[in-house]
Order: sequence, then structure tokens, then C-alpha cells
Amino acid sequence: MSENIERFKTLILGSGPAGYTAAIYAARADLKPVVYTGMEPGGQLTTTTEVENFPGYPEGIDGPTMMVQLQQQAERFGTDVRIGMATAVEFSDEPGGIHKVTIDDSKVVEAETVIISTGASAKYLGLPSEQRLRGGGVSACAVCDGFFYKGQDVAIVGGGDTAAEEASYLAKICKSVTMLVRKDHMRASKAMQNRVMNISNIDIRFNTEIDEVLGDQVVEGLRMVNNQTGEKEEIAITGLFIAIGHKPNTDIFKGQLDMDETGYILTPGKSTKTNKPGVFASGDVQDKDYRQAVTAAGTGCMAALDAERYLAEVESPEEVEEA
Ligand code: NDP
Repeated sequence: MSENIERFKTLILGSGPAGYTAAIYAARADLKPVVYTGMEPGGQLTTTTEVENFPGYPEGIDGPTMMVQLQQQAERFGTDVRIGMATAVEFSDEPGGIHKVTIDDSKVVEAETVIISTGASAKYLGLPSEQRLRGGGVSACAVCDGFFYKGQDVAIVGGGDTAAEEASYLAKICKSVTMLVRKDHMRASKAMQNRVMNISNIDIRFNTEIDEVLGDQVVEGLRMVNNQTGEKEEIAITGLFIAIGHKPNTDIFKGQLDMDETGYILTPGKSTKTNKPGVFASGDVQDKDYRQAVTAAGTGCMAALDAERYLAEVESPEEVEEA
């Protein structure tokens, strides 16, 4: 049986900037990487329009095109990119051990090293009007899309550190920012709360939720509801930012990899190493603070270098020690 199971030197799970950058480096190091794309080939950037903050694109580039180019760059050096989703894992505890990964609930593959770049997904409210207008003024990333609303009126939902940080960021670019907080207080740190409260063009509405996002093709306004009084109010806005948290895509690794209380994989110190030898994590799956394409790409590069060094070490430990 086992001779039918494919075995790779480096298996990469996920096809966002982290996964493809890991693939470029791993392929150039002759690790013959195989990428399984996951459910959303290309990752979160395929759901954005223009990417203007990735270095090297002075005119900007649209997200899906950038991801196709990253894939082509990885393939140019021999990466084998496959459509498929990891649905179960069995990681070895032994240095040099073989890891098993089930793809699409049906096929098992083996790998000497695994790089996890399965990303995180922004949480949305789930309102039909919000879903319909995603890409038409509804965004989950102020740093990515805020610039498109320069000088305009926007709103942001959430009361955590992300919402507070993004509201301050938007306030510098936009004319006004209405911040909707569903409780009578914010969850953000005191310092962040003080910061948003002292910015004159941020209007914080407590006990307030969205009743409906208004507009046919693009966002034109918001109907808000006070969840204490039931009172509704409409405001005109062109951009709506949802900042109610992210969920790392780590369910299948639970019980095997060390994670923080919100499910982000722990990679202590300045490396991408997890608690399992030969298993590395890069990109948003291990980073809840920065979450940028360029930082994800950076840690993808680190993961490939860490995998290369790990393989050299388990193959000839003496040589690595001497060097
Ligand atoms: P959090 O989970 O901390 O906050 C989410 C916010 O969204 C809460 O105010 C929550 O309200 C609200 N919310 C959740 N669901 C809904 C909903 N359906 N409708 C309306 N509001 C909703 O997520 P963050 O992304 O803000 O932060 C994640 C982690 O990252 C935190 O630990 C944070 O401290 C950290 N972080 C740190 C930063 C820094 O230090 N610079 C920057 C950004 C994040 P409620 O309170 O009512 O549940």
C-alpha cells in the first residue's frame, strides 16, 4: 500500500502571498515543493480589487492578477501547484519524521517538511446587503482599501483594537468616520480607546448596529439601529469597513500544533518553527498583528529557509553543526 503514497520534501498548504513566496524559495533551493491551494486559490487578495501597497508595483495591481503572477513565478522554478484542500493532518514528533496530510478527505500524501500558509478569514456580519456590496464599498481591510475613500465619509464596525486602529488610520484619509460599537463600551485597549475618542472626525456610536447597508451597485449609505431604543437612523457613506475580527484557518491542526487562545499558530522567537519538527507556519495563520501581503510574503520566505535548514540538519547534522 505505502508505495502508492506520494512523498514530498516540502509540502505547502495554502496559496496566498505566504504560500507562493515559500514555494518560490523552496523551489529555487531544489526542495521540489508541492502547493495545495486550499478552498480559495490565491487567498484573501483575490477578493480585493486594487493592491497599491505591495512594493514593486508603482501603478498598483489588481489582487487576482498579482496572485496569478505569484503562482507563475513559483511554477517557473518547478513548483507543482495543485487544487486541493488539506482536511486532516498527522504530524510526526520525531526530528526527520514523516508527516501525513489528507487531501480532500480522500488522498493521503507524505512530506518531510510542511509549510502551513492557510491564512485567516475576515469575519463579516452576514447581512445580505453587506455580502452583496463586498468589493463595491464594503471591505474588511482599511489599510488595503482606505485610500479609495480619500476625502469621503465612511463607517467602520467593531470596538476592538483592530477597529480602533483602522478608524484612526481612516480618519487621516477620509472626511469623517462613523464607528459603530454594539456594546456601551469598547473592547479595545484603553490607549486605543483614548486615541479614537480624541480624533475630531471620528464619531463613535455606542449600542449601535447595522440594520442595512444601502446602495444597489456601490455603498451609498447605512441604516443604523440603536439596540437599546430600537431607533433607526440613516447616514450617507461611500465606504463601510468591517473590523470585527479574523479567524485563522487552523481547525485541522488543533490538538497537534501549539496555538494561542484565538487559534493562531505559535511560532516562538524569530522563526517560523512550530512545536513539531519539520512543520513551519507563515503568513496570517501565525500573525494577528500585521496581516499584510508583504509581511505574509516575508514569513513565507522565512519558512522556506527554515525548512531548507531543517532538512540539511536532519540529513547531515555534523556538517550543519560545523558550519
Ligand atoms: P476582537 O475580537 O478583539 O474585537 C472584535 C470587535 O468586534 C469587538 O468589539 C466585538 O464586539 C465586535 N464584534 C464582533 N462581532 C460583531 C458583530 N457581529 N457585530 C458588531 N460587532 C461585532 O478583534 P480585533 O480584530 O479587534 O483584535 C484581535 C486581536 O488582535 C486582539 O487580541 C487585539 O488586541 C489584537 N490586536 C492588537 C493590535 C495592536 O496591539 N496594535 C492591533 C489589532 C489587533 P464585543 O466587544 O461586543 O464582542
